Amino acid sequence: MPPITKFATRSVSAIGRCCDGIITNQRGIALGVYVADCCAVYIVDPKTPAIGLVHSGRKGTELGVVTNAIRGMIDRFGSDPASMVVQLSPCIRPPHYEVDFAAEIVRQCLALGVKEIHDSGVCTACDLDRYYSYRAEKGKTGRMLALIGLNPTVTS
Ligand SMILES: [Zn+2]
Repeated sequence: MPPITKFATRSVSAIGRCCDGIITNQRGIALGVYVADCCAVYIVDPKTPAIGLVHSGRKGTELGVVTNAIRGMIDRFGSDPASMVVQLSPCIRPPHYEVDFAAEIVRQCLALGVKEIHDSGVCTACDLDRYYSYRAEKGKTGRMLALIGLNPTVTS
């Protein structure tokens, strides 16, 4: 099995990315996604262990990319959503954006049986000294890098 599994929604070109999410159960590999307003969703299954990292903006959230990542972890690694921990990064939110996709991501995780969900609750467009916001800065902005990995020195 390849060490990292990538998957994409059908609207990849609309999002402009090669993939929307990556999952792995390999230690010593850092998964990364770039975001600016979209949400980086960190998924950890400490039991198996396995991890996932998803780039979920408005469109991706509508298409269920986080749901796909969690299902992928269930199918490939035997992960149990009830023992997963999900963390949502800062992302653009109302009133700076018309859709509260962060709340929808939380709903999707709950629907799959994830119990421990942490939302930063932070809006990227509210704090431009600290975060890049594609919308608030009219496209002339940087990207934030989200990283996650399983500790390579731990044996289980
Ligand atoms: Zn805001």
